[in-house]
Amino acid sequence: MSTIGFIGLGNMGGPMARNLVKAGHTLKVFDLVQASVDDLVDAGATAVGSTAEAATDVEVVITMLPAGPHVRSVYMEDGKVIESAAKGTLMIDCTTADVETSRAVNAAALAAGHEMIDGPVSGGVGGAEAGTLTIMVGGSDDAYGRAKPILDAMGKNVIHAGGAGNGQAAKMCNNMMLGIQMVSVCEAFLLAEKLGLDAQKLFDISSTASGQCWSLTTYCPVPGPVPTSPANNDYQAGFTAAMMVKDLKLSQGAAHNTGVSTPLGAAAAALYALYCRSGGEDKDFSGIVNMLRGSD
Ligand code: NAD
Repeated sequence: MSTIGFIGLGNMGGPMARNLVKAGHTLKVFDLVQASVDDLVDAGATAVGSTAEAATDVEVVITMLPAGPHVRSVYMEDGKVIESAAKGTLMIDCTTADVETSRAVNAAALAAGHEMIDGPVSGGVGGAEAGTLTIMVGGSDDAYGRAKPILDAMGKNVIHAGGAGNGQAAKMCNNMMLGIQMVSVCEAFLLAEKLGLDAQKLFDISSTASGQCWSLTTYCPVPGPVPTSPANNDYQAGFTAAMMVKDLKLSQGAAHNTGVSTPLGAAAAALYALYCRSGGEDKDFSGIVNMLRGSD
C-alpha cells in the first residue's frame, strides 16, 4: 500500500480518492473547496493545506483537475508539485487535458527526477463511485507498471496507450465519437417521434441492430428506455454539456494541429457550444435533445 497525495476532489476525484482509501492506501488530500476535503477526511483521509504539501513525503501524487491550465499551474507553477516532491515520486494526472500540456508536464517531471503518467478516465461519476472507470494511460513502461496497482483500485479497464500524452489522445478521440454519437441518437429519436414510432420500440430495435452505441443503450437521451439515464432526471448531469464542449474543443484543436479533417466532430463542437450558450451549460450533455427539438 502507498502514501498518496490526492489533489482535486470534485465530482470524479472525490469518489476516486474514496476508493483508494477503501483499498487501504494512506491519503493526504487537498482541494480548493473545503466541503470536498471534509468528505474525504470523514472517509479516512488526512487533510493538508496546499498542493505542495500534498506532494511532500508521499510516494505517489494523483491529480483530478478541471482542465490543462490547472494541471500546468498545479505541477509547474504556483502549485509547486514537481518542485516539492522527493525525487522518484510517481505522478498520475487523471485530468482530461490537451496532449501538449500533458507532454510538457511529463517532461518537466522527468527532468526533476520523477516518473509521470497521464491517465484520463471514462465512465462518469457512476464509474468513479463503483471503481469501474476505463483509464487510458500515457507514459513509460516503468511508470505504467508502478501505477497499475493503484489505478486498479479506481478502474476496471486500465489500458497502456503508449508514451506520454497518449492517454489524452485516446480520451479526446473517444469523446469526439461520443459527442457525434449522442447527437445522432437524439436526431433519430426526434425523427421517430414525428413519424409516430414509439421511443421504446426504436430503443428495442436499435439497441440490438446496427445503430447500437453507448449513447443509446446506457445514456438514452429520451426518458423511459434506460431508467438510469439523466433524461429521467430532468437532464441533471452526469457529464455536463460544458465538459463536452471542452473535450470537443480539445479534439478540434488536435485536428487543426495535425491537419486531419473531422467535419462531424466540428459540427458536434458547434452544436454543443450553441447548447451551452442557450442555457444548457450545466445540464447533462444528453439534454441537447431538447435544443434540437426546439423545446429548450
Ligand atoms: P470538478 O470541477 O467537479 O472537480 C475538479 C476539482 O478540482 C474541484 O473540486 C476544484 O475545486 C479542484 N481544483 C481546481 N483547481 C485546484 C487547485 N489549484 N488545487 C486544488 N484543487 C483544485 O470536475 P470533475 O467532473 O471531477 O472532472 C475532473 C476531470 O475529469 C475533468 O478534466 C473532466 O473533463 C474529467 N472527466 C469528467 C467526467 C464527469 O463525468 N464528470 C468524466 C470523465 C472525465
